[in-house]
Amino acid sequence: MNALLEAEDIEVRLGGETVLRDVGLAAAAGRVLAVVGPNGSGKTTLLRALTGRVPLARGRVRLCGKPLSAYTPTARARVMAVVPQEGPQPFALTVWEVAEMGRYPYLGRFGAPSRADRAIVREALERMGVAHLAERRFPTLSGGEQQRVLLARALAQKPRVLLLDEPTASLDVNHALELLLLVRRLAREDGLAVVLVEHALAYARRFADEALALKGGRVFAQGDPAEVLAPERVVELFDVRGAEARRAVRELV
Ligand code: ADP
Repeated sequence: MNALLEAEDIEVRLGGETVLRDVGLAAAAGRVLAVVGPNGSGKTTLLRALTGRVPLARGRVRLCGKPLSAYTPTARARVMAVVPQEGPQPFALTVWEVAEMGRYPYLGRFGAPSRADRAIVREALERMGVAHLAERRFPTLSGGEQQRVLLARALAQKPRVLLLDEPTASLDVNHALELLLLVRRLAREDGLAVVLVEHALAYARRFADEALALKGGRVFAQGDPAEVLAPERVVELFDVRGAEARRAVRELV
């Protein structure tokens, strides 16, 4: 397996609490890894650890075979892109300007985007189906359009690893499926290693090649999404209480 992003034995402490312990993962080229788990289980903290935004008390993160700590922020951004939950500030930016931010890691200190940079931005917007919105102000877009613009920005970075933080959180089923199909195509066609934090378990099971379930900051289960997210495991993962709720899980997951 060609792991582009690897974490081994990670421990993170925040505010005197251990919020992640003994967590490991390997994200491979061409594959989608879904991170799931209850609220507060450590999913966001794991993403922050994988992007170097939170210090590790223990363990290692390697990006394309090198320690994450060996990268400058700019060098890291050329290899790894993040689609955050929130759009960029300031809000007055146009769609084009947001997508063009993806080229910043490639520009000189005061460099303007070149013709080649602009071609990459245009291609990214076209692939995500939002090129016709280029002149629109980002906040005037729908949630689904905003997510596709943020994906275009990530794509413009020409990364090898793509991390997404609950990209379907505010999307209806149609827009969520559209986005997840695009994400999976980026893995399959461009060979990106994708790590997807996904609260909707049915989406994770349908679109991920592998699932990592966190509970209380530890790995609860890891592997085939159909097994990790089997109804009886979901009941245990989320501590679903009551016979009726447990029956409902079978229909909803
Ligand atoms: P999830 O994304 O799965 O909802 P988080 O990674 O946001 O979970 O949080 C995991 C745990 O870490 C929670 O118990 C949360 O309260 C705690 N936590 C997150 N950030 C901090 C912080 N800065 N200081 C102290 N505790 C934190």
